[in-house]
Amino acid sequence: MQEKDNAIAKEFELSATTLIKNLRSRNFESYYCRTKEDAAAKALSLIPEDASVTWGGSVSVVESGLIDKIKKSKLAWLDRDQAKSADERLESMRKAFFCDFYLGSVNAISEDGIFVNIDGFGNRVAAISFGPKNIILIVGMNKLCKTLAGARERAQNFAAPANAQRVFKTFEGGQPRTPCTTSGSCGDCKSADCICSYIVETRMCKTPGRIKIILVGESLGF
Ligand code: SF4
Repeated sequence: MQEKDNAIAKEFELSATTLIKNLRSRNFESYYCRTKEDAAAKALSLIPEDASVTWGGSVSVVESGLIDKIKKSKLAWLDRDQAKSADERLESMRKAFFCDFYLGSVNAISEDGIFVNIDGFGNRVAAISFGPKNIILIVGMNKLCKTLAGARERAQNFAAPANAQRVFKTFEGGQPRTPCTTSGSCGDCKSADCICSYIVETRMCKTPGRIKIILVGESLGF
């Protein structure tokens, strides 16, 4: 087992070298961390002590342990999950645009450095595209795809259906609310519960360094 883990870690590390070169050519500030713990520490080191921080919900960010660390820090933390009503939650999503740092991840990333995100309300893709002055994305190397076509395919036919399972919790007896929660692949739905209103490909960071990508040599998120 250790041999397998070491082989995968080496493969992730080698792939990350190429990916970082390509990300930097697109003005993304980029780093590679071997473990999720290192990634959380790296993210924290990029955030000044007096900064305000928010997020749009991300399994990868939670798995890294970064949210717990931020909650224990003196950073000003805006969390839409603490909202007491749908209206309050929407208001929190809007306020997120004015925080100093926004945390998130990607649904898929191509070897040449373009990432794909799918969003229901659009708050996350909007924030990443044009919101807070600093974006930190924590990205497990499991999200890497050889081509942009592969990244689109991963985002739409793996990440989104898996995310729909998480949201609607059919594995805990929740009701299937979208075709993908029954079939496991995208049915291109237009249902009221659809979590795929916006599919955004980000191919460059217009303001150099605004988007900071921390690649992690582990599987994180979907
Ligand atoms: S079936 Fe609907 S909710 Fe599911 S992945 Fe496709 S578009 Fe998204």
